Parts: sequence; structure tokens; C-alpha cells
Amino acid sequence: MHLLTGFRKPTLDAVKTVKWIPAWGEERITKMIEDRNDWCISRQRTWGVPIPIFYCKECEKEYVTEDSLKKVQEIVKEKGTNAWFDLSEKELMPDGAKCSECGCTEFKKETDIMDVWFDSGSTHESVLAERGLPEADLYLEGSDQYRGWFQSSLLTSIATKGKAPYKEVITHGYTVDEQGRKMSKSIGNGIEPQEVINKYGADIIRLWVLASDYTSDISVSENIMKQVSEVYRKIRNTARYILGNISDFDVNKPVEYKDLQEIDKWALVKLNKLIDDCTKAYDKYEFNGAYRALNQFCVVDMSAFYLDIIKDRLYTSKPDSIERRAAQTTMYEILSSLVRIMAPMTAFTAEEIWKHMPHREGENLESVMLDYYPKVKEEYNNPEIEMKWNKLIKVKDEVSKKLEVARANKEIGLSLEAKVDLFVEGEEYNFLAGKEELLKEIFIVSEVEVHENRRNEDVEVGLGVKVSKAEGEKCERCWCYSTTVGENKVHPTICARCAKNLEV
Ligand SMILES: [Zn+2]
Ligand SMILES: [Zn+2]
Repeated sequence: MHLLTGFRKPTLDAVKTVKWIPAWGEERITKMIEDRNDWCISRQRTWGVPIPIFYCKECEKEYVTEDSLKKVQEIVKEKGTNAWFDLSEKELMPDGAKCSECGCTEFKKETDIMDVWFDSGSTHESVLAERGLPEADLYLEGSDQYRGWFQSSLLTSIATKGKAPYKEVITHGYTVDEQGRKMSKSIGNGIEPQEVINKYGADIIRLWVLASDYTSDISVSENIMKQVSEVYRKIRNTARYILGNISDFDVNKPVEYKDLQEIDKWALVKLNKLIDDCTKAYDKYEFNGAYRALNQFCVVDMSAFYLDIIKDRLYTSKPDSIERRAAQTTMYEILSSLVRIMAPMTAFTAEEIWKHMPHREGENLESVMLDYYPKVKEEYNNPEIEMKWNKLIKVKDEVSKKLEVARANKEIGLSLEAKVDLFVEGEEYNFLAGKEELLKEIFIVSEVEVHENRRNEDVEVGLGVKVSKAEGEKCERCWCYSTTVGENKVHPTICARCAKNLEV
């Protein structure tokens, strides 16, 4: 096949209609097509797809007619391509075949085969056209295929249909070891996927693929797998924690959004962000972006903040109280989206969660794979709460550092043993004053006082933090320290708040 000017130009034009990922793919294939002058589609091999041409035994003139092609087609359809080698010329050719040049009726078969790139390059015909599909959404292969499959597919499609057979093309790198070396038997640095699956489960290997930047070579080692399995454990624990705490939640009786607590609304802002980040990352095939977003959400937003803080509300409020159900409503909403986001990442774990979680009417009970991917809910976007809580989180971060120091110095054990004094001024004082109850909850301490001035010895800008031991006794029920423990005659070992929550 000669790439004449008339053929090369439409091919180069078609390259521009395709989205190449990574973007340098476009330049690479353009260059290769510009430099290519011909394509010899036959090969002298003893195996492969035969070329259905006969030659006159006398004068060597080729014999290819519609009838002869049709006959070979029918035979191959029934017996496979090996029939070409097994059957005689007489059996393969139409009855009464005669050379148009010399009238001879004796022929011999072509013995060359098709170039294998021609075979794979024409899959758009057998896979797509056969099913009435105009083109493929995506071709995916290793970075050596600009010379191979991507190119041969493009050329055959331009020749037969005048357009590219795909809308997008993605290339990936190769798997190498931790030091970037190719895996080989002699070095003994190969890692068998099956071994990883047996040891860690198939979801770990999926997660590793997701976490990798596939646009260049991808490292794999025992160490890397361990790190991924650590992240996996955190994601799984987030789901497990929620499942454990919504077991008595009626999904048909959620608390209305307006009645949720601020921190619940904040968690839903973060959930929206997770959905948005993952959707955008998936759309761009930047899977490691989705992995990072999921990791951040489960580890930072949920485990270290939201789920940690609402523990008190879940364990100590009255079971049917609106506060407790608000937390459950929020957690259920989170799990419901989380499991769908996880479905393409950690398919088995997502399916396992789906089987164990309660469902709303209309959801596909059989499999999460058959349900819908979550969408951002506009009503959960709340810039005011987001801004306010971003500030509160910054304060918590400062307080946590001080609590950590006090814990290291053995001044306190659990953070609930602590009292925190905050020293602030100006706008920050106005922001924090009056929020002591909320701050107690956020810091997970027993007492908070906000003072309008700065401690002299503390030079930190805007915020002074003092940690000391909280006053009072430890409440047996909520583990907070309170001077109210002992006041209640019926429940002398618990605090006033808990005593109230135990009232029928
Ligand atoms: Zn002849
Ligand atoms: Zn208590």
C-alpha cells in the first residue's frame, strides 16, 4: 500500500480529530505518518491470516474475482483460516475458473500471509462496524503502538471509511520495579499479579493501578503494595465505621437538610467536592487524581475530623434524638455516594459494602455496578459554612499540636482529660467567643474557654493555646470530665448532660 499524497493528507487530518492522551501522542503519530512511505501488507510467514489470491500456473497472472473471494469467505467462515492451507486450489476456487490471460485452468495459492498489523488494524471492521458502531470511544495500549496498532487501525480506516476509527487514544507506560528496572526472570524482580491478589486481594492491585501515573513507566514492589494496602485499609475502615453506626437508622426517615448540624452540612460540602473531583478526574482519565481525592476524603476529612468528632453525638445522645439521626442521615448520604465512587476503583469492596448497607427505594439491590454514579447536589453547596469551618479546622490543628505536646509530657492521656484556653483578639475573638460548646466538640476536650487577649509568653500570631487538666470527675458514660458528675442522685457516676440523655 503506497501512502500517496492523496492518502497521507486525510490521514494527517484525521489525527487532528482524535484526542491523544498524553498529548505528546499526537506529535508522535503525526511524525510517523509523515515519514512513512509505504506499507507492505504481505509477509513471508508460514502462519497467519492468508491472502486469498490465486495465480495462473502457466502465465502467473493473478486470479481474484468477486466470486473467488466470496467462495473463500464462505469456506473460512465455516472452517476457519486453516482451510486455506488444508484444502486444494480446486476446492478453494469457484467451479470453472479460467485464466483471463491464457485460458489455463490450473492455479496455485498465494503462500504469503497478511502483515499481523493489518489483522489487528482492521478490528474496527470486525468489532465496531459489525455491531453498527461508527467508531470506538477509546483505544488503549502501550506506548509502542504508535508504530503498530494505533497506526495500522488509522490507515485501514482512512482507506475504507475516510475517517479515524477512534475518538480518543490513551497510551500507558510499562511496569518496572522500584528502581525503574524492567522486570525480568534473570534479575528475579518480577511480581506476579496473581501473587499480589492472593496476598492482598484483587482490590489492592486495582487501587495500585489507579494510584499510578500510567503516562510513564509504573513502579511496583512489595513496598509499594504495602503502602497501597495501608490506604485501602483506611478507605475500608471509613465504610465499616459508617456501616456500624447506621445499623439502627431508618433510611426512609432522614433528617431534613435544614435540621442537620453545621458540621454535618460541612461534611456534605466535602462529599460534593469528592464527587466533583472524582468525576472530573475520571473524565480526564487522570485516575490518580480520583485516588488522591478519595484518600484525602476518607483519611483527613472523615477519619481525622468528621467521624471522630461526631462519635460523642452518636454514642451519648438519645438513640432517637434528632442530633443522632442527623449524624446518621449525613453518614448514610456519604456512604451512599462513597460506595458508588469506589465501585470502579475497588469493585469487590464496593460490592461487599453494597450488600451490607440499607437501601432506598428504587436502588438496584443486586449490584452497585447496576446503579448510578453519584452527582454533585447543588443544595449541599454551602460557601458560608465552608468558610467558617475552614477557619475552625485551622484552630483545631493548632490545638491538636498543643494537645499532642501535653500528651507526650504525660500531662493528659486522652484529649477528653484536657481543658483548652484560647487567647485571641480582635476579629478572631469575635469569631470564637460564644462558640465554646462547639469548640469542645471539635477539639474533643472537656472544657474550652475563650479569652480576649494574648498570652504574653506565647508569640504565635493571633492564637494562643493553653492546655491543662480539665476540672471535675470523669463521666462513666461519655468519658468527658465535668464538675457535674455526682450531682445526680440516681446516676451518681455520670455528668449532667448524660443524665439528661438517659431520661425517658
Ligand atoms: Zn494464465
Ligand atoms: Zn457524660
